[in-house]
Amino acid sequence: MPRPIRPRNVIRIGPVQVATYYDARGREKHTAACTAPRCGFSADYNSRPAAEIAATTHHCPIR
Ligand SMILES: [Zn+2]
Repeated sequence: MPRPIRPRNVIRIGPVQVATYYDARGREKHTAACTAPRCGFSADYNSRPAAEIAATTHHCPIR
């Protein structure tokens, strides 16, 4: 049975979306994921500011 992921506080910075969710251990996690086609960037961070900074500074390798 798939675990439901319930992201909250989803924002978009350029092509990158930042969301906060709880992982399988119930800890708060923050992820930044690029929505641009063929980019595929996504990363998890332990703090919301870190994820937002990563989103702000992200540059797609493919244009
Ligand atoms: Zn990108």
